[in-house]
Amino acid sequence: MNTQRRKVSLISPFYNEGKGVQAFFERVGELAAQLQPRYDFEVIAINDGSRDDTYAQLVQAQRVHPYLTIIDLSRNFGKEAAISAGLDYATGDAVVPIDADLQHPPEVVAQLIEKWEEGAEVVLAKRIDRETDRPIQKFTANGFYRLHNAISDIRIPPDVGDFRLMDRKVVQALKTLPESRRFMKGLFAWVGFHSVTVEYQVAPREHGTTSFNTWKLWNFAIEGITSYSSAPLRVWTYLGCAVSSIAFIYAVYLLIKTLCFGADTPGYASLMITILFASGVQLIGIGVLGEYVGRIFAESKRRPVYIVRDVVTPDP
Ligand code: UDP
Ligand code: MG
Repeated sequence: MNTQRRKVSLISPFYNEGKGVQAFFERVGELAAQLQPRYDFEVIAINDGSRDDTYAQLVQAQRVHPYLTIIDLSRNFGKEAAISAGLDYATGDAVVPIDADLQHPPEVVAQLIEKWEEGAEVVLAKRIDRETDRPIQKFTANGFYRLHNAISDIRIPPDVGDFRLMDRKVVQALKTLPESRRFMKGLFAWVGFHSVTVEYQVAPREHGTTSFNTWKLWNFAIEGITSYSSAPLRVWTYLGCAVSSIAFIYAVYLLIKTLCFGADTPGYASLMITILFASGVQLIGIGVLGEYVGRIFAESKRRPVYIVRDVVTPDP
């Protein structure tokens, strides 16, 4: 029996969540009260370049919640980078990324810890419904997971987000991954380890609005797919071959027809169709290449994932 107290870290990215900070820490405070008899507890709040009063609110919350450390990033780096920062600064034996808008109920963390105590290295929190999503979002999310899992070498469990508990071993493994474009769901899946699932109900957002609009989500999906699969790059070879073969057959047909029946000028339509189709295919192909070249470009710069302005630790 291990008698040493173990430590649990929550890492929570804040982007323009000023209105929700108090509410978040009220709920987290309850969790802390429940856990602290048995565990050391810390919350790493990452202020991801918020333009509202989030930072001031966090500093204020720190007076009441002495387990809170604030990582202030120099600008908005995006949620993925903010979570990476949290993973780097968390010192817990178990680390739980959790959204700051209370969509991930802090109470669930107690259940995650239970499974961890039973020996799981990763405890996934799986949302049991997507009621808070718009129908189009449900549809596209499903489509994304299907497509992603069909063409990538790693499998992302559907309806599981960043909300999960990870053992120190897993966090250590994540920290060794060098890429600077970080699609966390993919990285989490890539490192592997034994995982079990706990189900929970997503709550609607308490304050403020989501920062992920449709365009951002679309880009996020492309990021996810091009991070883990080169299928979109390879498929163009086959499509190109198919299109060229059809064009070749058509050319033979035209040649024979012209030789037997003479030339007819109204070939305009077929000519236009061929040109438009072929150039369309080429443009898409170039676009796909561009996605990957863009990734190589971004990675080759070797820039850090985030820049920290300040680390505010609680007074001892
Ligand atoms: N977030 C962040 N940086 C960003 C966008 C979002 O740190 O650039 C945080 C945000 O404060 C919240 C979490 O990521 O804690 C999830 O964001 P949001 O609720 O907007 O996304 P949704 O729940 O709609 O997917
Ligand atoms: Mg949210």
